[in-house]
Amino acid sequence: MGDRTRLIQILLNLVGNAIKFTEKGGVTIDLKVIQQSEQDVRIRFAVIDTGIGIAANKLGTIFEQFKQAELDTTRKFGGTGLGLAISKRLIELHDSRINVDSVPGQGSTFWFTIGFKKGDYQSNRNSNNVEEGLKINVLVVDDNQINRLLINKILKKWGASADFAENGIEAIEKVETNRNYNVVLMDIHMPEMGGLEATGIIRAKTEAYFQQLPIIALTASMLSNQMGEINNAGMNDYILKPFDPRVLYDKLSRYQQQ
Ligand code: ADP
Repeated sequence: MGDRTRLIQILLNLVGNAIKFTEKGGVTIDLKVIQQSEQDVRIRFAVIDTGIGIAANKLGTIFEQFKQAELDTTRKFGGTGLGLAISKRLIELHDSRINVDSVPGQGSTFWFTIGFKKGDYQSNRNSNNVEEGLKINVLVVDDNQINRLLINKILKKWGASADFAENGIEAIEKVETNRNYNVVLMDIHMPEMGGLEATGIIRAKTEAYFQQLPIIALTASMLSNQMGEINNAGMNDYILKPFDPRVLYDKLSRYQQQ
């Protein structure tokens, strides 16, 4: 039994980085039970990649906010330098710490251990089930492939249909061409064009469909005045990433086909 939402956020950050910084080879997620008793279990999570690696003198600073190993990281790979700072903090909230081993040019391993109470399989089996039968066609706009995969899997499970775009420009094209979405899930930060700008352009079109199409922001934080920006852009609502499936279901179900 554990904190699913936080664990997913940590792993999404680490796996997202691993994929981003790896051109050849692969990314492995390795879980190992390192200690257990009748009630508790301690698991070691490792995210291993064969990517560009990190210089030894940068290993200490990459966990600080807005720190990237190289000056050209944002230009080449994108990113904000926040992911590892957040992961580190979330792991510390589990009374643990994040570790990294890396060889430049060969790859990196980020790892941590977390202790869990063992659950009763029978009684927990259905606890995360959300209602099924969502009659809805969703356009998911997110540049992150893992997020798209994750949302697709969940939507399919609920019986919803989904289409995908990787940035704001693609989203506008799809909305204009297809005009059959009941709702758009729109990431805020994306290359080429972000979600706020894309929503503004969609809302500026005169036909009723574009004015009324529900658009829900997908956002990693409610830092600063983001709520105001989301409203001003003409978005209807927001969902925090990593999202809780129950919240997503709840918000989407308001826009079901009649
Ligand atoms: P971001 O990825 O948004 O830049 P992070 O806080 O997630 O921010 O990572 C900080 C920096 O650590 C990255 O910019 C990169 O320089 C380095 N880094 C993180 N993960 C990896 C990895 N798997 N391989 C190589 N470098 C990495």
